[in-house]
Amino acid sequence: MLVLACAIPAVLAAILLIAYNFQREKAHALEQAHELAQSAVNAVDRDFASTQSALYALGTSDLLEKGDLAGFQQRASRVLQNLKAHDIVLTAPSGQQLVNTRVPFGSPLPVVGQPVRVKGLFDADRPVVTDLFYGKALKTHLFGIAVPVSDGTRVTHALAAGVMPETVAAMLRQQNLPRDWIAAVFDSSGTIVARSHQMDEFVGKKASPGLRERLQAETHGTLDTVTLEGVKVYTAFVRSPSSGWAVALGIPRRSLTNQLWLAVVVAIAVVGVLLATGFATAWHIGSRISGSIFELAKPAFALGYGAKVTVPPLYFHEANVLGETLSTASALLHDASAAVARHDARLTAIMDSAMDAIITVDDDQRVILYNRAAAAVFGWPPEEAVGRPLSQFIPARFRDAHVRHVEAFGQRNRARRGMGESGELLGLNRDGQEFPIEASISKINEDGKNFYTVVLRDITERVKARQALERSNADLRQFAYVASHDLKSPLRSIGGIAQILEHSYHGALDAKGIGLLRRLSAAAARLEQLTDDLLQLADLEGEVPAFAPVDCRDAVQEALQLMEQPIRDAGATVTVGDLPVVMGVHGELTHLFLNLIANAVKYHGQQAPEVRITAERAGAEWVISVADNGIGIDPKHHERIFEVFNRLHKVGDYGGTGIGLAICRTIAARQGGRIWVESQEGKGSTFKVALRGAAVPA
Ligand code: ADP
Repeated sequence: MLVLACAIPAVLAAILLIAYNFQREKAHALEQAHELAQSAVNAVDRDFASTQSALYALGTSDLLEKGDLAGFQQRASRVLQNLKAHDIVLTAPSGQQLVNTRVPFGSPLPVVGQPVRVKGLFDADRPVVTDLFYGKALKTHLFGIAVPVSDGTRVTHALAAGVMPETVAAMLRQQNLPRDWIAAVFDSSGTIVARSHQMDEFVGKKASPGLRERLQAETHGTLDTVTLEGVKVYTAFVRSPSSGWAVALGIPRRSLTNQLWLAVVVAIAVVGVLLATGFATAWHIGSRISGSIFELAKPAFALGYGAKVTVPPLYFHEANVLGETLSTASALLHDASAAVARHDARLTAIMDSAMDAIITVDDDQRVILYNRAAAAVFGWPPEEAVGRPLSQFIPARFRDAHVRHVEAFGQRNRARRGMGESGELLGLNRDGQEFPIEASISKINEDGKNFYTVVLRDITERVKARQALERSNADLRQFAYVASHDLKSPLRSIGGIAQILEHSYHGALDAKGIGLLRRLSAAAARLEQLTDDLLQLADLEGEVPAFAPVDCRDAVQEALQLMEQPIRDAGATVTVGDLPVVMGVHGELTHLFLNLIANAVKYHGQQAPEVRITAERAGAEWVISVADNGIGIDPKHHERIFEVFNRLHKVGDYGGTGIGLAICRTIAARQGGRIWVESQEGKGSTFKVALRGAAVPA
């Protein structure tokens, strides 16, 4: 196609060139023909002129003046030898031939016909060239060149030379015309006088009509015409203004078109050879290009599959550059995929080393990643698990709801959440057994698709342990309650009996007995206090009543009322700041404040106790402080004082059961809050309770 695209304009240009060249050739040939015709006409005119000069010279002969016609004939015969003429005839104005070099002098001579009595010769006294005529005596065509002979006043004779067409033909031959050109000499009437070809056949015939018309009308010109023998010719003609005779030269069209065809054939041959060479070269180059591209297609394909690419040396530079680029891309891809493989292996190793089961599913909730721990939990080996729906790992009755939950999670903005928020989650293993699980789900979005990762663990053991703990706690609570409750009345009896003994049998006992009785009733009182406290603690292990806003001012006031006597006894001062409304259980909070105020009053040093109850906001919480100026607590005991029965003092120094702060911590925790102490030994203590604020600020 490329070769054709290049060749077609060249071929068209060649055709145009050939056509242009043909036109130029034709114009040139016609020009040449015109020049040759001109010189032929000149030659004819020259011949006429020289014959006329000879005749003029002969006409001035004194023999004619003297009337010596016999002598004149002899002279004329001599002149004739140098003339290209057939005879010389002297004619009187009457038409009577007086001398004719063709017949011996004295023979009877005819009165000549029309051609010799040429009009104008006698009248106008000027030379004449006749048209061609047929000489009956000679039985041939000929023409005459005649000059007038005058005696000084009038024309006395006509002296004419008869010329045969062959003379003109000889002149034509001398013109060295190209052999195939058809040349013809016409007289003033357009009759053929001489011809280069088939002269015998055409002398005396009229020119072809087209040419005859042009000969009459113009002195020179060119035309396309057909010769009498039927040859198509390009013709140039020239007519002599003096004699009216003309020469026409016909160049056979075929001789020009032959050249044209030759040029065309040569052009076709050359173009054909060039085209063939071009095709061969283009084919060669084209097959190298396509070969290179085919060679490159294989590695390009291999590259798509991530295979290592090797490109053989190719046939041209650009293909080699592309080949090298493919090789480099393949190497890069190879490195990248090796890195990805290493990364995958690392990820798998990390996943497999995880304690928890990790399962990743695609948008259709089908497993795509499944670690070793998952296999251990569910019993399915990874190769069987991958591709299964996630619902496979869930008891049948939860499956639909679970699928919907995951979809809903996929549509929400949260990237992560715990599962089973609305109830306990159960898994299903390969053997069809259900077991409790703890799980969280997270999602990532890749190209508009969600991938979910579920991290879960089997909590069968933990659930069992919790259930066991709950059971034992319940048992313990029951026991503590029963024990403390059932202990109370015998203790009270013991205390009461001891008092009765002390009062009623006061005289019967010695001091030691009375001392023992007092210790007995003190021990009973203490034991009673202990059982009370334990009972309270046991009560707090039960369910938390519904929360309500609790005004801390009320709770503190109630506690202070209960503490009225001890405060007075200790000479303590209590100041209460602005206190908030918090969320909680009123009775429990009163109990908490009661314990803290009791301790603040109890654990004082030399100074009278000063207690300050204040509150401050910390975010959503309120921190309520109960501060005293008492003995303080070494920081190393700050934690343990909140444990049951942990006391820092002997009962003799400061009374107490070691349960009060444990109750405080339980109450704080039940309200969703915390309790802690800030204190240094000898520098007073500040107990702080953080509680959730109610919507209505204090
Ligand atoms: P107790 O019945 O002994 O008061 P608590 O549980 O109320 O039991 O207190 C535990 C221990 O914490 C106390 O024995 C005491 O040593 C210490 N403690 C409690 N409150 C204060 C306080 N305000 N100042 C100093 N020490 C205190």
